[in-house]
Amino acid sequence: MKIAVLDIQGSVVEHCDVLDKINGVEVVKVKNIEDLNDVRGLIIPGGESTTIGKLLSWYSLGNEIVRRVQKGDLALWGTCAGAILMAKEIEGDDKVQGLKLMDIVVQRNAYGRQLDSFECKLNFEGIGSVPAVFIRAPKIESVGTEVEILSQYKGEIVAAKQGNMMVTSFHPEMTDDDKVHRYFVEMANML
Ligand code: GLN
Repeated sequence: MKIAVLDIQGSVVEHCDVLDKINGVEVVKVKNIEDLNDVRGLIIPGGESTTIGKLLSWYSLGNEIVRRVQKGDLALWGTCAGAILMAKEIEGDDKVQGLKLMDIVVQRNAYGRQLDSFECKLNFEGIGSVPAVFIRAPKIESVGTEVEILSQYKGEIVAAKQGNMMVTSFHPEMTDDDKVHRYFVEMANML
């Protein structure tokens, strides 16, 4: 099964390295619409959401991703900046050209300066304990009724799922634990 990582900017290699070690996964890097052929799951990595958003629309990739996800034959996972790009609403920000796919409200860079980066352990629904790295992470301020909360940190939502879409405000690809990646591969496998 083909699982892809959006190859525009951000932690692309880190995601590919984790996926490479999962049995049955063929890893694809997506730059153009054609790269999405036969892909069942796509990861939008962390990076800078303004940059990734701009390039998504220049390459006309954004519309195709939205079409495939809404059709239901592509699973989509956004980590950090990727989560921002998937949100229906980005509070207090009109710079990011988002995909407006998932019924969540996010706030960029909301963990404050002293907490720009930190590591912790999280309890993740259906998986158990996972290590997590937060880098200038967004806050998921609220979620719609169709959205399932998968993990929280100090009362804040840090992972959520809506049908074939998942967001994490942290970076599992920067740890040596592949459980969240396996969870996503399973989501894609069930489509
Ligand atoms: N702060 C970045 C943004 O707002 C996200 C950071 C990240 O992806 N690690 O786009």
